[in-house]
Amino acid sequence: MSDVTEKVNLLGMSRPDLEAFFLELGEKKFRAHQIMKWIHVHQVDDFEKMTDVGKKLRARLQDIAEIRAPEVLSENISRDGTRKWVFQVEGAGAVETVFIPDGRRGTLCVSSQVGCSVDCSFCSTGKQGFQRDLTSAEIIGQVWLAARSFGPRSNLGEHPITNVVMMGMGEPLLNFDNVVRAMRIMKDDLSYGISKKRITLSTSGVVPMMDKLSDELDVSLAVSLHAPNDELRNELVPLNRKYPLAELMAACKRYSDRKADRYKSITMEYVMLKGVNDTLEHARQLKRVLASVPVKINLIPFNPFPHAGYERSAKKDILAFHKYLNDNGLLTTIRTTRGDDIDAACGQLVGDVMDRTRRSERWKKEVFLRSGEQLTTIIDEGAVK
Ligand code: SAH
Ligand code: SF4
Repeated sequence: MSDVTEKVNLLGMSRPDLEAFFLELGEKKFRAHQIMKWIHVHQVDDFEKMTDVGKKLRARLQDIAEIRAPEVLSENISRDGTRKWVFQVEGAGAVETVFIPDGRRGTLCVSSQVGCSVDCSFCSTGKQGFQRDLTSAEIIGQVWLAARSFGPRSNLGEHPITNVVMMGMGEPLLNFDNVVRAMRIMKDDLSYGISKKRITLSTSGVVPMMDKLSDELDVSLAVSLHAPNDELRNELVPLNRKYPLAELMAACKRYSDRKADRYKSITMEYVMLKGVNDTLEHARQLKRVLASVPVKINLIPFNPFPHAGYERSAKKDILAFHKYLNDNGLLTTIRTTRGDDIDAACGQLVGDVMDRTRRSERWKKEVFLRSGEQLTTIIDEGAVK
């Protein structure tokens, strides 16, 4: 008889979830720990390969459970080591994940939703609308598949993914439970063991959820600010009408206050839009707005996409903005755009465009890479599988 009930996907379960699962089966807690290591350290998805788990239990797991990651539509590896995956998401198009090696650091940019409901005016994911939340298995599955692409690792903690940024598609705080569950798995010593300062969640400013996050899990925070006054921010990030700057800054302060001294800084992301938010007057306002919160500022040169309606600020304006902030004691960096010289450089993934053109030659030109930390890179045309 075929299964009426769906199998439980163990991939998206955190340590407490797995412990509860095994206790329910009448098994000891340590089984959960064994399985977690098999899944996330050895990247095994076949219960038969879990040699220190008894035959009977393996057979039982086979019947009721599975370890199922999202389906990879394409994997690209560029000459400089950057990798990009596009994942098919059941019933809802595609999402992408990008890995950027940079010396000893390897940063994975992970998606949290298909599309996004926040609808920021300069963001192609926002323009695409919202399709659905990713499950915790689909979120951690991006890390799992990326880790797996580097081959098995012998020891805990020894893998090229040193940092994770929740800066792919979607607003992570609007998919709170699944994102927190996935980040718990990333941090767990029995899986990826990534430290709190190397996991960064980026939000457009969902104030109540920022408080909830600091109650539940210790990770680094980035806030997509993009404007130094409410009038402009209402236009660029419509969520500002609900949670205006004063409330957002108060939430940042609370978040920071609860952190240990070394990790108090919040990263403020500021996209540079020509003639919109890039004058020295904006920089002066920004300094005032940020006066009460310890911050690092990351200026992101806007990444154009078709029909965006915005342009990237001129280099001299970005440099002047950067200089003003640094001269005034605000540690500010400019996000580098490694692929500036080639037109496929950077912007965003539009899932539905991806869907229509996948496996064709055209998508390489049409699908723009999402901007995450140093995600502006070129994928070698020849490396597309
Ligand atoms: N939804 C979350 C996380 C994903 S967006 C957030 O908004 O923070 C990751 C970063 O890329 C955000 O700072 C976002 O504002 C920025 N971004 C979006 N579209 C961009 C574009 N076209 N060019 C440059 N940065 C962009
Ligand atoms: Fe959503 Fe972030 Fe894009 Fe805004 S910038 S629409 S919050 S993904």
